[in-house]
Amino acid sequence: MRKIKELGEFGLIHQLSSRLKFRAPDSILGIGDDCAVYPVKSGMKEVISTDALVEGVHFKLSTTTPEALGRKALSVSLSDIAAMGGTPKRVLVTLGIPENFSVSFLDKLYSGFNTICNRFKVELAGGDTVSSPKCFFINVSVIGEANRVFTRQGAKPGDLIFVTGTLGDSSLGLKLLNRTKKDGSNDYKFLTEKHLDPTARVHEAGILARSKINITSMIDISDGLVQDLYHICKASKVGARIYEDQLPRSPEFARTCKKRSIPPLPLILNGGEDYELLFTLPADGAKNLNRQFLKAEVLVTQIGEIALKPRKVLLKMKDGAQNILSDSEGFNHF
Ligand code: ADP
Ligand code: MG
Repeated sequence: MRKIKELGEFGLIHQLSSRLKFRAPDSILGIGDDCAVYPVKSGMKEVISTDALVEGVHFKLSTTTPEALGRKALSVSLSDIAAMGGTPKRVLVTLGIPENFSVSFLDKLYSGFNTICNRFKVELAGGDTVSSPKCFFINVSVIGEANRVFTRQGAKPGDLIFVTGTLGDSSLGLKLLNRTKKDGSNDYKFLTEKHLDPTARVHEAGILARSKINITSMIDISDGLVQDLYHICKASKVGARIYEDQLPRSPEFARTCKKRSIPPLPLILNGGEDYELLFTLPADGAKNLNRQFLKAEVLVTQIGEIALKPRKVLLKMKDGAQNILSDSEGFNHF
């Protein structure tokens, strides 16, 4: 395989973008000019966001594959669009590449990009390619469209709190990657894949957006359930109560915590990177929600309710005790 130096910046961009097979039907210009160009749909709102992944901070080259890294880099950005109830349409990707980095790694990374672009009908419409003195990094900007927009603000006292999927799998997977020898079990595979290759809940966000359900607030769980629930509470000026025995966990998670004597609750509450949707709705919408999700393959679980006071997140334990949870246990970069 040729080296980056031999390909040059434009040769590299050409080679990588030839991996990308999905082109949005309404695109006017994609990769190759100074800008990508597409028409704007009248009556729709545009939703945009950006996310960076830095080697050594967000991933280690020793524990992931380039394909999975490509899929994850796009998924975490698509998850932000899903969290607003939007449909992702286009992404722009900036790569920071250290000297002597492997072209074959980048090829496989783009093959991971291509998988997600095809799966969610998202066009990779451009980007930038720069050298980076030490670490490899990826920045993904995403543009989507929305009819109804769900924000963090709007949760009302009495609303029910729901979450998609299961909690804690990703952080337990990370723990396994960091501290144990690889093991061949299905549980190990399931949990580490939840960390290395999360699924953005784009389809589930679509179900919510198309339904008549009055979603009063929504966020995706990237920093941990409690920290992200606090984001909703602060924006909505309310508090929340959640129930220990209602927090959804996968059988793989439960078995592994038991087998390795790992306390499950901190992972469920503060683990982060689950990329599940956390949202609220008035109690009379619950039936409709469950009906809508019967068709989806993803679980949706009521984990608690919104209260006017105190403006805290309270955890009701199985034994009846009630704890005030801290808003600073989840992931924080600084
Ligand atoms: P400019 O000099 O105008 O910034 P570039 O030379 O950086 O343009 O990029 C040329 C074209 O290739 C542009 O259309 C840009 O969007 C695209 N591009 C650059 N880097 C990437 C990348 N890593 N992935 C996909 N497209 C890229
Ligand atoms: Mg450029």
